[in-house]
Amino acid sequence: TNFSSLGLPETLLRAIDHEGYTTPSSIQAQAIPHLLEGRDLLGIAQTGTGKTAAFALPILARLIADRRRPLPFTARVLVLAPTRELAAQIGESFRAYGQMIRPAISVAVVVGGVSARPQVDLLARGLDVLVATPGRLLDHMAAGKLNLGSTEVLVLDEADHMLDLGFIVPIKRIVAKLPKARQTLLFSATMPKEIAGLADDMLKNPIEVRV
Ligand code: AMP
Repeated sequence: TNFSSLGLPETLLRAIDHEGYTTPSSIQAQAIPHLLEGRDLLGIAQTGTGKTAAFALPILARLIADRRRPLPFTARVLVLAPTRELAAQIGESFRAYGQMIRPAISVAVVVGGVSARPQVDLLARGLDVLVATPGRLLDHMAAGKLNLGSTEVLVLDEADHMLDLGFIVPIKRIVAKLPKARQTLLFSATMPKEIAGLADDMLKNPIEVRV
């Protein structure tokens, strides 16, 4: 398999080439064609498998195909991550893979431990892609600085790690604010019963990819 057979747009193929990727990883080859069709996904994969590109590339393809401007205090795509470090890495991946898109897409990373004010300025503009940790995201929602009522895609990364950190209730609060009609992707390295239950609640007829 090569990237051009997966159905990705030229703008992304150029960025992939620029990153030096020649061959899709297993999870990328298995997931990307289905994600481009809008399917939900349950991805059982560890870090290092290329899972970030497996979700970021089809999400960017969707943004390229439909360049509607996000309204102030909304995000078209929400990615939830357990830690600041992972959130920062995911944000960097969206920027790298989306670097050739014009007009440029907006990507912001909103995490705890840093001042909230600059984050509010980013949210105020409206975002194509918001990558966040659950606690700080809920703070912004409670302050009326983020409305998820028009969000089109939700990604939950490292769900088992979220469980370990006590984020299941916060995640459920966040997910309750998203539209029912959305695309949802859940990634986890392991499938404890709490995560299987969360996947059951959140995903609609998902494809399941295990690597
Ligand atoms: P991840 O599992 O998403 O944390 O990705 C692990 C690493 O693999 C990252 O450094 C990516 O830049 C890299 N990577 C992802 N997909 C590919 C690919 N198809 N070919 C080469 N490297 C890749």
